[in-house]
Amino acid sequence: MFDAHTHMHDPRFDAVREQVMRRAVADQITGLCCCGTAPSDWAAVRNVCERYNSLNLVISAGYGVHPWYVENLPDDWICTLEEALENNPVAVIGEIGLDGIRKSVPRERQAALLRRQLELAAAHHRPVILHGARAWGELVAVMQGYADKIPAVIAHGFSGSAEIMRTLIDMGFYLSFAGSVCNVKAAKVRAAAALVPLGQLLVETDSPDIFPAGGTPAAVDERNRPVNQPSNLKFVCNTVAELRQVSADVIADVTASNARTALFGT
Ligand SMILES: [Zn+2]
Repeated sequence: MFDAHTHMHDPRFDAVREQVMRRAVADQITGLCCCGTAPSDWAAVRNVCERYNSLNLVISAGYGVHPWYVENLPDDWICTLEEALENNPVAVIGEIGLDGIRKSVPRERQAALLRRQLELAAAHHRPVILHGARAWGELVAVMQGYADKIPAVIAHGFSGSAEIMRTLIDMGFYLSFAGSVCNVKAAKVRAAAALVPLGQLLVETDSPDIFPAGGTPAAVDERNRPVNQPSNLKFVCNTVAELRQVSADVIADVTASNARTALFGT
């Protein structure tokens, strides 16, 4: 299994990261993508990749500015991002996008930062990891101008409408599903997970967030909430398999192969 979206550098893992990584490998996780969210965490992303790449785990490093963190950036953020890409020829750009949850972050600022980063992805021929929570429609409109300039686009934690799903599929994007598919009330997400063409389907945990029903917590955070971990990816795989009426092994194998193609072009 390949966990297409995590934040393994998150401080919530600091006390348990080694054991969480070892448990992931023991639970058949063969690779994961670790996405940064702001210039302040990119060094931590690089450390995780360098430290754990040797554990029989392929780690894809993502560098990007998440839509929540587009304000008050250091002046040289774009140079730092270019440097990170130049230092790692297989690094991807993410997590970037638009967000409709935190309404306090001006949408124009989010869109401007997204476009800067998409230009960079096109110039450096790097895949991108998109966040579109409650903004999928607007995100589609922005992406229309970039779809054929970027080698691969992953819509992470997809939760848009059936119509948006079809548009993203037609644009050749990968759609990645997180633990919310395990919630029987998440009808829209479950319907999408059942319909995405197998060749464009990915699964993720979004660790340390989106703890799935039935999962094993890596720890609890300061507010006593369970911290998610990659070994819980099996719950996502099993649910997607049930929804599509195929075996969990098929979902595990196909999504792992799709992730390698999307992230590494292999
Ligand atoms: Zn994320």
